[in-house]
Amino acid sequence: MSEAAFSEAQPPQHRLRVAVDAPQHSGISAPLDYLSEQALPPGSLVRVPLGRRELMGIVWPGEPDASTEPAALRPILGCMEGIPPLSAAWCSLVEFAARYYQRSIGELALSVLPPQLRELDAAQLKMRLKKLDKWAAEQARAAADASPAQKPELSPAQAEVLGQLDALLASAKAPPPLLLYGVTGSGKTEVYLRAAEHALSQGRQVLVLVPEINLTPQLEARFAERFAGRAIVSLHSGLTPAQRLRHWLAAHAGQAELVLGTRLAVFASMPRLGLIVVDEEHDPSYKQQDGARYSARDLAVYRAHQLKIPVMLGSATPSLESWQKAQAASPPANTVRGRYKLLRLPERIGGGAMPRVRLFDMKTLPLSKGVTTALTTPLLEALRKRLERGEQSLIFLNRRGYAPVLHCAECNWKSDCPHCSAWRVFHKGDRTLRCHHCGFTQRVPSECPTCGNQDIAPLGRGTERLEEQLQEQLPGARVLRIDADSTKLKGELEAQLHAVHSGEVDIVVGTQMVTKGHDFRRITLVAAVNPDGALFSSDFRAPERLFALLMQAGGRAGRDAEQAARSEMWVQTWHPEHALYKALARHDYEAFAQSQLAERESAGLPPFAHLALLRAEGRTAEAAKGFLDAASRWARSLPEADAVLIYPSIPMSVARVANVERMQMLVEASSRSALQRLLWHWLPELHALKREHKGLLRWAVDVDPLAI
Ligand code: ADP
Ligand code: ZN
Ligand code: ZN
Repeated sequence: MSEAAFSEAQPPQHRLRVAVDAPQHSGISAPLDYLSEQALPPGSLVRVPLGRRELMGIVWPGEPDASTEPAALRPILGCMEGIPPLSAAWCSLVEFAARYYQRSIGELALSVLPPQLRELDAAQLKMRLKKLDKWAAEQARAAADASPAQKPELSPAQAEVLGQLDALLASAKAPPPLLLYGVTGSGKTEVYLRAAEHALSQGRQVLVLVPEINLTPQLEARFAERFAGRAIVSLHSGLTPAQRLRHWLAAHAGQAELVLGTRLAVFASMPRLGLIVVDEEHDPSYKQQDGARYSARDLAVYRAHQLKIPVMLGSATPSLESWQKAQAASPPANTVRGRYKLLRLPERIGGGAMPRVRLFDMKTLPLSKGVTTALTTPLLEALRKRLERGEQSLIFLNRRGYAPVLHCAECNWKSDCPHCSAWRVFHKGDRTLRCHHCGFTQRVPSECPTCGNQDIAPLGRGTERLEEQLQEQLPGARVLRIDADSTKLKGELEAQLHAVHSGEVDIVVGTQMVTKGHDFRRITLVAAVNPDGALFSSDFRAPERLFALLMQAGGRAGRDAEQAARSEMWVQTWHPEHALYKALARHDYEAFAQSQLAERESAGLPPFAHLALLRAEGRTAEAAKGFLDAASRWARSLPEADAVLIYPSIPMSVARVANVERMQMLVEASSRSALQRLLWHWLPELHALKREHKGLLRWAVDVDPLAI
């Protein structure tokens, strides 16, 4: 039958491909075909029936399947009026991410839209859009009266970097990804501001990504001050559903000129996007840890490449992936999107020095009576000196709670979690034993639950205990603990940071939470009291992460140029000779990166190899293992398996969580495309395989996993 005859014989119905939120395991991974009376452009938001449910969907680019009988297709239920369609570029970003991270298009597409979009009916939506117009008009009025803050004169290094950016933008072709490498306080943010100013002046929108919600208000304030009157919105999971919808709509409608957000903002719909900034690009928070396990940093690079716009990745300690791509010697063939352009800010603004790093060998340190190994005599002395001078200190210990485990010396009982292969942590504040994996919490027993011994004691130390010991050793000092426990309630972190800034605190004790981004002015001593664990971790990225954390922690000291000269970073370690600490002492990220890259290359690890992890969770370890082993056999039968290495399945490092046994299997390939080809042919089969394995609860794949 000819095309013309076919359409004449039909009622005036249009076929549409619609992406709906059907998770991959339901077997629906491609967009579905529907009928519509109207011809709707791709990107339109619609309501469709699926089974007995009514879902939101997105008209997806591409040809519907013309061979299906129209009678087999269901009509859409309606179109969401007033919202302009999502762009083709947005759809292709989502499609790329779905393919790359092995999820269904519809699931990913719908999961990155604001949840409230699905709940509103036409009338409610219309009201929201009207409000938004009012907001935009107000913004425009404000812009007219606003007087933007004065800009500082650029340092020579900043001017040089921006000159290079200009030159890249002037050359007609797409700019390469930019890696802005400079220590804390070297003026990276000022470079972001200038680059943003340039894009804004051309009528483009700017997207700025930060690793954590906590950092958004701070950066937002800086952007708001510089771009007074410009429409700035934030996008992160801490917003109320209504705020998130409003901000998203403002970006999508092109009214918001600047969008500042965490990883989910990489999917913000921005029709005039002209620049993407990824601050602290090395930060692990850019990787989503469930669902579609995407890397927002990597997707930002993809998105910029797709739009031929600049993307600027900033860090004092770039990820080894980015660093390697920015090396002149790196073969461009190794990277899909070519080599990165390295831009350097070699010094702190105002010429302030980085704090002097001092390594203290725990094997030789004197311990005064009653003092634990964390608070050595020299450290206490150094803290006292700061107290006398009215300066602040920061002690960094990446373990919250009072002690990681309670122990009975009589019978050797330890406070293990009955549901997990982990200890329960002793929290003295509320006298609980709490599992940090499953949340199982009980009151601390007054005696050993197995032998009745009354003398059960905490082993090891967390931030709570350190806080207590500091108070004992330095009476009168104002000690403040900042960690996930002290900041559980909304507003607590802000209040605590404010206390530090306003000088109400002498000593801050905290987890990695305090190492990030906060611009503390009066800190002249940063001490890491127990960082060695990461040196011997089975996770090959642990040293990279430790180095970044310590550099970042050190960066909190001496941000005030005057104090920089006497600022110090102390590391108490049992391994002062370790190359990582040696490099840290010289502030030598480059030497550290080079040695790590050499190790990774000889071990065949990323960025010289590409990894995917297949994880399985079961009621028993056997069920999880059985599934993975069957999956492995299946993979080996595929021709694509020749180019990859499939490792045996092993238990995850915390094997049991909430009575679920967790196993994983690593797949490694020397080329990204070989890995992708295997996954593409292999994973769809696993949905069927799952049904054959009773006791298997779920499985998931993590492409480019951060922790293995
Ligand atoms: P980074 O983002 O690398 O940590 P910032 O951009 O925050 O560095 O700069 C550190 C400090 O120096 C900030 O207080 C900032 O206001 C200031 N600063 C940045 N650039 C300049 C400049 N060109 N002249 C004067 N002060 C500057
Ligand atoms: Zn006991
Ligand atoms: Zn538990």
